[in-house]
Amino acid sequence: MSSTAWDSVHEMDTHTFRLAVAQFDRAAEMMNLDPNLRHRLKLPERSLIVSVPVRMDDGTVEVFTGYRVQHDSSRGPSKGGIRYHPGVNLGEVAALAMWMTWKCALVGLPYGGAKGGVRVAPERLSRSELQRLTRRYAAEIFPLIGPDKDVPAPDVGTNAQVMAWIMDTYSQQVGFAVPGVVTGKPLSIGGTLGREEATGRGVVYVTLEAMRHLGVEIEKATVAVQGFGNVGSHTATIMREAGARIIAVSDHAGALYDPRGLDIPELLKCYRTDGHLLLRDTKMGELITNEELLALDCTVLVPSALSEQITEENADKVQCKILAEGANGPTTLEADEILTEKGVFIIPDILANSGGVIVSYFEWVQDTQRFFWKAKDIQDRLHEIITAAFHRTLEFSRNRGASMRMAALMSGIDKVAQAHLARGLYP
Ligand code: GLU
Repeated sequence: MSSTAWDSVHEMDTHTFRLAVAQFDRAAEMMNLDPNLRHRLKLPERSLIVSVPVRMDDGTVEVFTGYRVQHDSSRGPSKGGIRYHPGVNLGEVAALAMWMTWKCALVGLPYGGAKGGVRVAPERLSRSELQRLTRRYAAEIFPLIGPDKDVPAPDVGTNAQVMAWIMDTYSQQVGFAVPGVVTGKPLSIGGTLGREEATGRGVVYVTLEAMRHLGVEIEKATVAVQGFGNVGSHTATIMREAGARIIAVSDHAGALYDPRGLDIPELLKCYRTDGHLLLRDTKMGELITNEELLALDCTVLVPSALSEQITEENADKVQCKILAEGANGPTTLEADEILTEKGVFIIPDILANSGGVIVSYFEWVQDTQRFFWKAKDIQDRLHEIITAAFHRTLEFSRNRGASMRMAALMSGIDKVAQAHLARGLYP
């Protein structure tokens, strides 16, 4: 590694960034990646740190720190969500941006990877504070984003409304409506059908392929889902519709367990009536901890909360057959080895959760063409792209004797490497 570039980025040197780099290093080693590219791809192309002053409802001004990191743009505009969470830092955003690059390349979208975030607990802000924060953050990252440059989307702690405010702020600056500057928008301003559930739907599609491959019948499958945000709640709903029994779900405060299967639609009804309700308040199952949920005897475990949940501390207790990574980076490299040893079939994050960015791509295409598709077109095309990516990865993994994670990373990295080599080094 050229020590100068690497040494100057200690701000990025957090555990999540180290995980992303360690995964990359391992894949780069296995595929014998050109060392010049290796140095470049370890670090983001461009990173922006912004201060976001916000007038709070009580008249005081609070300053939040925000980020937008573009990891690579060799194959097209960079793409990736915006996260609002108190734990956000440059290293985490840089890691997530790198994963977006491999994800988009793996499933064949004409995008590079990016990610953004603001270090804030959004549930502690009023709606108008959230709007002012979002608009000022959007104004601060304005020079970097645009439909042909970098296209944000929702991630942890953000949603369609936040995207609408970003779209409006951007459009006000340029003087006309630019729907394609963000994806995951409301339908009324150029959003697409099926985007909200897309990540969960993708998780289900690839899990069904994995079950077919392993000879597991869906009717006999039990599923535990960690995290009940956008990804977890839709995964649980769609997985149940597909015929599986959802035996546990959790939020940050704890998990609900019912071996006979939880009534997910009913649970969602209670949960959504009051934005502040916790799963445990619904009293719809036995209360267990998040740690206990990860250790449940089940067919499929879906970590769909934050990163580094399955570590060398608890990997040994994991008992699932299939690990479908709905979250980004939920498993550490040490845990990976333990799970592989135990024979767990891992559907790695950049494949398992790619449904979100796949349907974001559909939204961007529709915005660009000003021509909108039916719900069925979206589901069919998502199914086609994600299942093909699953089978390509499975085949690659068998041919190369590599794990599913390494196979997915190597395929993604290889496409990016080819783009760099074809374009050459500027100047
Ligand atoms: N935040 C999502 C992810 O991590 C979606 C990104 C997008 O749609 O651009 O994949």
